[in-house]
Parts: sequence; structure tokens; C-alpha cells
Amino acid sequence: MKFLSTRGKAPALGFSQALVAGLASDGGLYVPEVLPRIRVSAKGKVPELRELGHSILGKFAAGDPLARRIPGICERAWDFPVPLKIMPEAPDGMLELFHGPTAAFKDFAARFLAECLAAIPSSRKRLVLVATSGDTGGAVASAFHGRPGVEVAILYPRGRISPRQEKQLTAWGGNVQAFAVQGSFDDCQNLVKSAFVDERLGSGYELLSANSINIGRILPQAIYYAWASLEFRARTGRVPGFVVPTGNLGNALAAIWAKRMGFPIREVALALNANRPIADFLSSGEWKAASAVATIANAMDVGNPSNMERLRALYPSHRELISEVRAESFGDGQIRDAIREAYTRWSVPLCPHTGAAYALARRAGGSDWIVVATAHPAKFERVVEPLIGREIPVPPQLSQILEKQGSSREIPVSLNALRTALIPS
Ligand SMILES: *Cc1c(COP(=O)(O)O)cnc(C)c1O
Repeated sequence: MKFLSTRGKAPALGFSQALVAGLASDGGLYVPEVLPRIRVSAKGKVPELRELGHSILGKFAAGDPLARRIPGICERAWDFPVPLKIMPEAPDGMLELFHGPTAAFKDFAARFLAECLAAIPSSRKRLVLVATSGDTGGAVASAFHGRPGVEVAILYPRGRISPRQEKQLTAWGGNVQAFAVQGSFDDCQNLVKSAFVDERLGSGYELLSANSINIGRILPQAIYYAWASLEFRARTGRVPGFVVPTGNLGNALAAIWAKRMGFPIREVALALNANRPIADFLSSGEWKAASAVATIANAMDVGNPSNMERLRALYPSHRELISEVRAESFGDGQIRDAIREAYTRWSVPLCPHTGAAYALARRAGGSDWIVVATAHPAKFERVVEPLIGREIPVPPQLSQILEKQGSSREIPVSLNALRTALIPS
């Protein structure tokens, strides 16, 4: 399998090379040359999630030195449960992706990427650079912390993430450094992009991207959609639609890819917060990025989602896109209402991102929606607890990090400042 740039002017790469490259040299993003059709029989036992990972990701790694290591990589990366709960009414489901070490779905892909990179030799010191709107940085820090030969630098928008998210970025020490950037997530993302083409940084390190511009962040996410669709069908006899809380569009894109691979997925709906460029694009056909506005679903505060480029590459025709994908945007008030309602109806506390997805499922009506729960509500206790009127117990993996001391360096939105901090003079 080869991976091609969305802009068509960079060399095609194999699986390992695409993971190491991150962004393509023409500024585009790597996508698989084909999405293999996976044959799934409606009868028979649903394969276990990791097993499905071996067979699907094995196809993407075909011909690459990493191919034979994929089964071990999946086993080590996904050593936590991924429950699909089916609610008796409707029926609808909830796919809980927050049982990994940092209590958000980002663990799933960050741990896969870290395992893959550890299996790809390098003669140079590596620097993983990551911009985070809240949860990516923690997942990447956790996945790479303590690994030899690699440094991690996390850039996050100062004052725009929850205190518990911040702790998860800043409490690691060792090979992980956190930078509080005086700007928005889009500013952080732009800084990372310019760092990648900076010769001085590039001569000091082999630079690696752990944002969802990296194909290694998208592919593993397709596995839980594939598995959950099969599992939902086996348990209910029906074909589900997924509602995905969406920011940078990495997670939702993985759902759309899983649908293209032939898994039983009726449709994919993108739940947005007040940052609405994707919803506006679907209704107008015209792409207009905007600057990000701060919301209570902060991991979705993205005004210029980098994976738009992959989505548009997949759907050259706007008409086809809107026949398969829908998007709706919800303000903070609507998200709060959804969290209250879900607690009354389902007796589960939702994080604000998942709250937006719940709101979309309710507005769309019908049944067989799987609400994708992207983070544990205890990470956003200041928003969620007042709405549901009780305390949310903190999962053990989260409380371990919260007990540690955090430290970060504040920097302006400036490549020079970042470079000075990263290259010891
Ligand atoms: C990152 C994140 C999202 C958005 O996912 P994208 O892949 O960026 O669209 C949604 N919810 C939570 C909790 C997140 O951490």
C-alpha cells in the first residue's frame, strides 16, 4: 500500500515513511491510495477489536517492514477496554473511547503511533512536536513519556483548556516539555507547521508530527468504528449511524473511511460547537476557515481544521459529500441542555464534546445513532458537575496525574521563541 499527498506533488510513500513524514513535502496530507474493501459477513462472530485492528491495519501496512509487527503493536497500544453501551430506548448506543491512560479517545491513536515509531529505527534524535486543543497533548505525552531517543514538545493555547487537561500536559517531566502559547489552537497548529519547514530545527532533530496531520493518527481510529458497527449490528440487527464530536476532523474522517471500507455504517454526522466552518461548508459548498472561538467543548475549538483537506480529497463532488455526511453546530447553552437531558434520560454524565454529539442525535431524531463519547466527563468537572448536580468520580488513571506538579513555559506565537526554547545554545 502506498500513501499519496492530497496535493499530488510529493512522492508516494509506504506506511512507515508516511508516519515519519507527517506532512507531505508539497504541504499536503497523506491519504491511502485506496481504501481497501473489507468483506464483512453479517453472520458469524464479531471479531474482537484488536483482532480487527490486525487485519485492517495489516492491509494499510502491506509491503512495509512494519507489516508483521502490526499485531503486537495493536495488542500493546490498546490494552484498555472500549465499551459499546446500547441504551434500551430507540435503540441508540454510546461508544466510550475514554478508558485509556489520559481518559480521551486520543490515547487510541497516540499509543498506536508511539508503538509504530518505536519499531522504526532512526539514527537521529527525534522530536515529536504537537499542537493541542486540549487532549492530544496529554495522550501524546503519556504515549511517548520515558521512551528513549525521543523528546516531546507540546504547544497549547494558554488559558483555553480545562485545568485537568492542563495538568495532563504539564505534569510529565523527563522527555516531555509543555509550552503555553499566547494564542489560539490555530496559532499553535500554525507554529508547528512552520517548525516543520524550519531548517535549524530540522538540522538538530528528526522532527515528527503527532497531530492528526499524521496518517498514523487517523488510521487506527477507523478500527473502533469498524468494530462498533459490527457489534451494534450483531446486538440489535440494525445498521448504525455515528455522531462524532468534531474539531480538527480527524476522528470523523476515520469514521467516514470505515464506511468506505464497507463496514455497516448508515451515515456519519459531525457534531460541532460554535466553531461552524464545517457546517457552513456543507450547506454552502464554499470553504471558509475562521478564527477559533472559545467554547466549553474546548477540544473542538478549531477554526481551520487541517483534515478538511483529506475530506475534500475524498469527495471531489459536493453533492456526494452532503448525501453521506451531515454536520450541525451547537452553542454552549445547547450543549449544557444536552448534558442535563442525557443525564436525565440515560443516567450518564457526558463531557461537553459528547454533549454536542448527543444534541445532534436528538435533533436528527430516529434511532440507531451511536453517540461517540470522546472524553471522560471528570476531565470537565467544572462544566459538568453543576449541570448534573453531583460529583463525578475521577478514574484512577486520571487521579494519578492530577496529584503531580505541573510546569510549562509561556511563549508568544513566534517560531523564533519556540526554536530558542528547543535548541539549547
Ligand atoms: C480532540 C477531541 C475532539 C475532536 O476530535 P477531532 O479529531 O479533532 O475532530 C472531540 N472531543 C474530544 C474530547 C477531543 O479531545
